[in-house]
Amino acid sequence: MFGKVLIANRGEIALRVQRACRELGVRTVAVHSTADAEAKYVKLADESVCIGPPPSGQSYLNIPAIISAAEVTDAEAIHPGYGFLSENADFAERVEKSGFVFIGPKAETIRLMGDKVSAKDAMKVAGVPCVPGSEGALPEDGKEIVKIARTVGYPVIIKAAGGGGGRGMRVVHTEAALINAVNMTRTEAGAAFGNPVVYMEKFLENPRHIEIQVMADTFKNAVWLSERDCSMQRRHQKVIEEAPAPEINRRAITRIGERCAEACRKIGYRGAGTFEFLYENGEFFFIEMNTRVQVEHPVTELVTGIDIVQAQIRVAAGEKLWFRQRDIVVRGHSIECRICAEDPFKFTPSPGKITSWHSPGGPGIRVDSHVYSGYTVPSHYDSMIAKVISYGDTREQAIRRMRIALSEMVVEGIKTNIPLHQDLLLDERFILGGTSIHYLEEKLAAREGASKGK
Ligand code: ADP
Repeated sequence: MFGKVLIANRGEIALRVQRACRELGVRTVAVHSTADAEAKYVKLADESVCIGPPPSGQSYLNIPAIISAAEVTDAEAIHPGYGFLSENADFAERVEKSGFVFIGPKAETIRLMGDKVSAKDAMKVAGVPCVPGSEGALPEDGKEIVKIARTVGYPVIIKAAGGGGGRGMRVVHTEAALINAVNMTRTEAGAAFGNPVVYMEKFLENPRHIEIQVMADTFKNAVWLSERDCSMQRRHQKVIEEAPAPEINRRAITRIGERCAEACRKIGYRGAGTFEFLYENGEFFFIEMNTRVQVEHPVTELVTGIDIVQAQIRVAAGEKLWFRQRDIVVRGHSIECRICAEDPFKFTPSPGKITSWHSPGGPGIRVDSHVYSGYTVPSHYDSMIAKVISYGDTREQAIRRMRIALSEMVVEGIKTNIPLHQDLLLDERFILGGTSIHYLEEKLAAREGASKGK
């Protein structure tokens, strides 16, 4: 096992990784921007290094500063968390070239999967079903693009090969709008991701977002740790996640999970990863792979009993996977609500000082959060301040426990989206389970319409 790990991230995930390290007896180095200097998890770490001013470009994305911090503190490995540099192949390469272990897959795997066009190609070869669309990147020639769209069939979605975080996508319903949409997505993708390559997919009208968690070691052992349903989304961003996915044929899930584990063995995958799928009319279609730990990993931890972050660290340190596929048993149901510092229905960010904070508890409740009374939510970063995760023997119990937890929670001084979650936990369609990725947007639009009508 490593003696010391540097955590190249901030917020709840920095604390989550720190806890995993402490349980493994590994010392920790927190790196932070000046905006996060006073954060509790920074003080809790064995050592801390300031890596720059608040803008993440100068701190959490500052590769030389992070490598130097690892050098001066004698860390052996770097955990990238999620977001920031976690899926940056150049970072992973620099980390390993500088003599540290990158807690994640090899740089070449990140590169392969980070480009959604090459990822889809690799998955097709590995026998994973993909959303129908263009064969690879779209050509320059407009006439060719029109032809491809006719074959795929409208509506189509134009997506950036380098896209992420729900950005770089445009839905096209008619041929008249096609070329303009392709050009706009190209320009935006070039500016936002430094990669103007775009591709086309059939736009699925009513799918669910189902993803498979995988874990692999360096000895080509790979398992899948069941699935999550992350269909409750706004602007392609997840709001509520759960495991297992309600109302899905278990045989179909098992088949797709086994394909994912097999794909990991084929591409020499290492560490934790997620295969994301759209699910419609009983069929799964691969959309992308995330080569890192995900925000929603706790729901899988609660139903499988496997600590995913510890597993990441242990396989990075060269341990063989200590469980086989048949050891993975899903028990009960788990739901996660992402608590964000924002207006619950207008979604405007609400950073600032939390004057009062009370975290819920009781049976089946886990709260992953770095905040506390008196903590100031900086305006520079993502607005997520906590994840409330519930567990129950059944989905109904997990929902009931979540409702109680949110009713106990107190956050004063800033606005949060807790009222939105409370609404959703009482929503009849959500309670039935199996809503599509468009459900939340439709619900919000109806709400907006109703309030305008008054
Ligand atoms: P990102 O990397 O930005 O998260 P993804 O490819 O994972 O992008 O897509 C994010 C979300 O966008 C999906 O969960 C889904 O809601 C929507 N989406 C992506 N591709 C399609 C498609 N072909 N049809 C319908 N919705 C899609």
